[in-house]
Parts: sequence; structure tokens; C-alpha cells
Amino acid sequence: MRLRNYIGGHFVESRGDSLLSLNPSSPSDRVAEFGAGAPEDAQAAVAAAKAALEDWRRTSAPARAEFLMRWASVIADQSESLAQATAREVGKPISEARGEAARCVAILRYFAGEALRPVGEVIPAQTHGPLQYAFRQPLGVCGLITPWNFPLAIPIWKAAPALAFGNTVVLKPAEASSHVGTLLAETAMQAGLPYGTFNVLLGAGAQVGQPLLEAGVDALSFTGSQKVGLALAELAARHNVKFQGEMGGKNAAIVLEDADLDRAASLIAGGAFRYAGQKCTATSRLIAVRQVVDAIVEKVRLIAEGYVLGPVDDPRCAVGPMISEASRERALAALGGQAGAARVEGEGYFIRPAMVRGAEPDDPIAQEELFAPVLTVIEVSNVEEAIAAANATRFGLSASLFTNDLRRALNYAEHIQAGLVRVNGDTTGVDPHAPFGGMKGSSTHSREQGPAAVEFYTEIKTVQINP
Ligand code: ADP
Repeated sequence: MRLRNYIGGHFVESRGDSLLSLNPSSPSDRVAEFGAGAPEDAQAAVAAAKAALEDWRRTSAPARAEFLMRWASVIADQSESLAQATAREVGKPISEARGEAARCVAILRYFAGEALRPVGEVIPAQTHGPLQYAFRQPLGVCGLITPWNFPLAIPIWKAAPALAFGNTVVLKPAEASSHVGTLLAETAMQAGLPYGTFNVLLGAGAQVGQPLLEAGVDALSFTGSQKVGLALAELAARHNVKFQGEMGGKNAAIVLEDADLDRAASLIAGGAFRYAGQKCTATSRLIAVRQVVDAIVEKVRLIAEGYVLGPVDDPRCAVGPMISEASRERALAALGGQAGAARVEGEGYFIRPAMVRGAEPDDPIAQEELFAPVLTVIEVSNVEEAIAAANATRFGLSASLFTNDLRRALNYAEHIQAGLVRVNGDTTGVDPHAPFGGMKGSSTHSREQGPAAVEFYTEIKTVQINP
């Protein structure tokens, strides 16, 4: 299948050499083919978004909300086919892919409501008489560069607030999820979103990413690797484009001696190994105090052994393949001596869940984001050491603590360096109506989703009217 860009309400051929998107469960299954893109494609997409801007920002907020509700309905109607396409293109177990489609519906409905909130406040002036008020306005054209691992939800959680608050959008989905990105364009079209408000630009990140930023977007929201995110942040600063980056994690689950170990094991195994650990919020470090480390490792191991690797369209499937041969090889290399046990022979990029014991907090396997079903175990003596170890990375996205001691839970919530903090909960799984984002190297310190989204997608204007 040959994919095309969705620009100004039309599907148009993208330039450049052909790229392929392969089914990671079965790479001989070519999901789609599309052009690698060229600066002209990015310029055309931004021009279409600019052309649609004035009408869209003048569309009343209730009418914009209505469009989002219609988009939610179209996605709800097609949720099964969207989930199946997601399972095929990025190897997501079908149960999770169904959940992701449902989440898109919830996000669109939520932001339809957010569009109707007050947009400003009246502020007393220095003297009696003038009316002074500050209100939020749309930024303009928002570029959205998104990863393959949540190919439905991440584009929607950026596009929904952007559109709700009166901006127009150019989405650049990851190469590996280009088909799902195109399906989103079709749903937007079927929902009747005005032409040019939501555009989809396919292609290689390195070929169309920078041209997208330089084609005159007013803001750029990025989710992906830290390397690309920081490079885009620099570029955005040079052009004074408002920028937001979500850039991964090395998330820790801490287990203390008083924890409910069965509950902890089930949530840690799920957080570490489901969807092959390919979530920014996946649990990749297990930090346990000595008294319970053997017990918790054994319980997690037993649960992981019971996980079904594939096929992804089986509702019992928990793990699924890794996205590519390169990412599988990187994970196997990091496993060293354990690679043989983890490797799964066959056509897809599957590996078995693995735990690595005996790591120190500053070892590479405890520092680098692997995006794989690999859990590094770190032993500590007490809760203070545990929190110090959890904080000893450059990331700070998500963390969890398993304990029944309220005092230690509160102290951890205060001192853990993570934007998403759980007690007796999983590091993964987020409520779409709650702020999402990380501390330190995991983000550019803004938050997405929930009431926080308005901060990024609008700009404040202060008005004084003197009678
Ligand atoms: P991942 O490792 O999860 O694939 P990347 O950061 O490589 O993360 O990719 C995330 C998104 O960034 C994708 O849409 C990708 O196409 C895009 N991208 C990759 N390289 C660049 C680049 N140099 N400039 C802009 N976007 C890029």
C-alpha cells in the first residue's frame, strides 16, 4: 500500500525515495510504502495549516468542541480496525491497542470540554476606570512530531488540545507508524474537520523534521528520543519557536520490606514487560531492599514466564515483538551473557523478558533507556539509598514505590525526581485528563494533557481599555 500526505484536505504524494513500514511480528509483511519527504512537502503542509488558521480561530469554541466530539465518534466507530492496524504496524498486543483507541475517544471528548473553559481573567488596573484583562489566544500552526509506540494516542493528545484552543496542526508521525498516522488523517476527514486544520506529513524525521520547524510553525511539540528532542530544542530556540519535548525515561520501581510483594510483582512485571517494555513510562529498574530482593525477583520472574509473547492479535498476548531488528539487537547486546536465553528464533523481532541482577546504579544498563523487556535489579540497604539510586539517572519521568508506610510514601513523593509519581501502582498507565511529563532530562519541563495542555497551546495577551 502506497501512503500519501494529507495536506489541506487532500491526499497527495510525498517526494523522495521510498521508505517501508514493516510488521514487526512478521517483517515479510510490508504494511506500507511512502516517500521519505522533502522540504517542499513540509512547506506545503505548513502553508495549508496557515491558510486554514484564520477561519478556525474564528470558529466559536462550542463549534470547535463539536468537531472534536464528531472526531471522537468516528474513532469510536472505527476503534476495532484502528486497534488491529496498530497491532499489525507497531506490534502492540491487541488488548493494549484497543485500550489506546478508547483512550483517543476519551482525550477528544475531554478537550471538547476544555475548549469551553474561561479563557482569561479581569485584573485591576493601576487607576480606577480602565478595563484590564488577560486572555489566552491560539498560537497559530503547531507542528507535532510523534513516536511509533503510541501511534494513535500521542498524536491525539497533542492534536486535540491544539485544535480545541484554535490552532491548526501538522502531524509528522514516526516512519514506523506511518500507516496508522494516515488512518488518523482519514478519521479527521470523515469527522468533517475543516480542510487544512489537521494535516499529516509522512517521511523520514531527519528529512522533514527540520524543514517542518523552519517552514514557519509557531510551536513544535515532540515526543521521542532525548537525542532528537534536544537537537530540535536547540533549533527551535534559534528560530524562537515555542517548543515542548517529552524524551523518555529510565523509570524505577522501589520495593521496601513492608510491601505487598504479590501486588508489587504483578505491577512491576506488567510495567516492565508488557508491550516489550516499549513505553516511555515502562519500569526498567527494580530497586529493592536486601530483605526482599530475592523474593520479589522470583515473583516477577514467575509472572514474566507466564506472559504470552505473541501473536499480537491474540487477546492473551502480553509482550509482542520489538519494533525493529536494530532495537532487538541493541537490547540483546546490552544483555550480554543472557542474550542467548532471551533471543527467540523465528521471523518476528521477539525477545523474552529478561532481568539483570547485580547492577550498580551507575552501570550503563541502569542508565540508558533500552526500550526493551529488560528489567535491571539494584539492591539497596534502606529507603534513603533506594531513593538516591532511583534519582541517579539523567531521566525523571515516572517512578513507583511499594510500601504500606504512609510516612515513607509521603517522603518519597516529595524527594523522588519524577513527574509521574506512584505509590503501590504501576509506572505505566496515565489518565488522559491528568498532567503528563517528566523532570530533568525526560522533558523540557512543561506538561502535556489535562488542564496543563492549555499552557503550551495558547499565549496570553494583556489588554487595557481606557474609557
Ligand atoms: P525513537 O527512538 O522512539 O524512534 P526518535 O526520536 O528517533 O525516537 O523519533 C521520534 C520522532 O522524531 C519520529 O517521528 C521521527 O521521525 C522524528 N525524528 C527523528 N529524527 C529527527 C530529526 N533529525 N529531526 C526531526 N525529527 C526527527
